[in-house]
Amino acid sequence: MNRRVVILGAGYGGLLTALTIRKHLRAEEAPITLVNRVPTHQLVTELHRLTAGNIREQALALPLEKLLKGKGVDLRIGGVESIEPDLKRVRLTEGSVLAYDTLVVALGSETAFFGIPGLRENSFTLKSVEDAKRIREHIEEKLDSFARGGREADASIVVGGGGLTGIETVGELADELPAWCRGRGIEPGSIRLYNVEASSSILPGFPSELVARAQSSLENRGVRFRIGQPITAVEGSTVRLGDGSAIEAGTLIWCGGVQGHPVVTASGIELVRGRAAVTADLRSVSHPDIFVAGDSAAVIGEDGRPYPPSAQLAWQMGETVGYNVFASYRGADLQPFRPVFSGTLASLGRKDGVAVVGARLTPLKGFAATAMKEASNLRYLSHIKGLFALAY
Ligand SMILES: Cc1cc2nc3c(=O)[nH]c(=O)nc-3n(C[C@H](O)[C@H](O)[C@H](O)COP(=O)(O)OP(=O)(O)OC[C@H]3O[C@@H](n4cnc5c(N)ncnc54)[C@H](O)[C@@H]3O)c2cc1C
Repeated sequence: MNRRVVILGAGYGGLLTALTIRKHLRAEEAPITLVNRVPTHQLVTELHRLTAGNIREQALALPLEKLLKGKGVDLRIGGVESIEPDLKRVRLTEGSVLAYDTLVVALGSETAFFGIPGLRENSFTLKSVEDAKRIREHIEEKLDSFARGGREADASIVVGGGGLTGIETVGELADELPAWCRGRGIEPGSIRLYNVEASSSILPGFPSELVARAQSSLENRGVRFRIGQPITAVEGSTVRLGDGSAIEAGTLIWCGGVQGHPVVTASGIELVRGRAAVTADLRSVSHPDIFVAGDSAAVIGEDGRPYPPSAQLAWQMGETVGYNVFASYRGADLQPFRPVFSGTLASLGRKDGVAVVGARLTPLKGFAATAMKEASNLRYLSHIKGLFALAY
């Protein structure tokens, strides 16, 4: 049988799907077309390091052409405009249309702005290598302007959101900003780096002793926290907070939340909280010829709530989807998705971190947590290399 597989998105979910399908099925059996907006597979979990300039772009933007070389995958670089599930086709932004027999949706998620006035227009988001580079260039421009006698706000940076992304970003900036200042003759103490979080604590889900440890580690490096303070509006460089105060900031980086991908929410497939509702084997509940992997899917946990978006789950879902596409081609039983949680790791800059690891959620801090984070990145890279070696 020769049926067309179209995969949308080459992040963790999409790439792992493609490689896993190729582990089981040759190109002649299952032609794959993989569509991605950019020509690279991006290690999104390391973007905060690129923002602060302490990792090379090449280390986290891996060329897809190279990753998929010889695997018989037709790579299309471009945007997906819409999915038409009832016609079994996908429309690309450059105007062409791709017909499929099996579709895999792995487009990730989108930043949520929660309708806060002025936030979308006046903030940077951090979802891609291009975003990270843009933020870095902007901060450098602002520091140049400050060094030339510009406004105080030029030396002020607000990171909105005290979850994993926001905290890792302030940690990295706290480490790197002093060197950026020295290079420009700026006194590092004149920089103001804020983290603003609406709820009563940063790092939700971490035990309180690790939260306290993370906060004091960052405060010791100059980070100013505004916890329990929602951003209520942004007017140009004025960031307004719930208590009526305001921060003048030349840079606002918004890491405050994610929502379903707009192509998925507009597609007509059944949704749960803006993400695709899926069966236990990761097929759309409304369209069984569509599989969904990664942040685009809402997989419901034992507590009845969707799992939070994470790279480790996206990668595991990609493998389950890849296997299930193969199983469906062979008329075999599909596998239910069984997530394995290895833990959560938050880096707090280059030399510090906090983590809960293993089935017992063992708490780690300092070097041990940082080393675990490095190890988990290496594990991912060696895993995709291993899959590549196994794939046809
Ligand atoms: C800064 C940051 C740090 C994070 N740190 C961690 C962490 O430490 N641990 C963890 O587990 N998770 C972390 N996450 C979350 C994790 O990165 C995501 O859950 C994960 O990337 C989801 O994988 P995915 O395959 O669903 O989507 P993605 O990895 O986002 O991939 C989606 C792909 O689809 C492409 N795409 C999107 N829209 C279109 C379109 N319209 N047309 C064509 N292509 C499109 C994108 O270019 C991308 O290649 C972090 C996220 C961020 C932003």
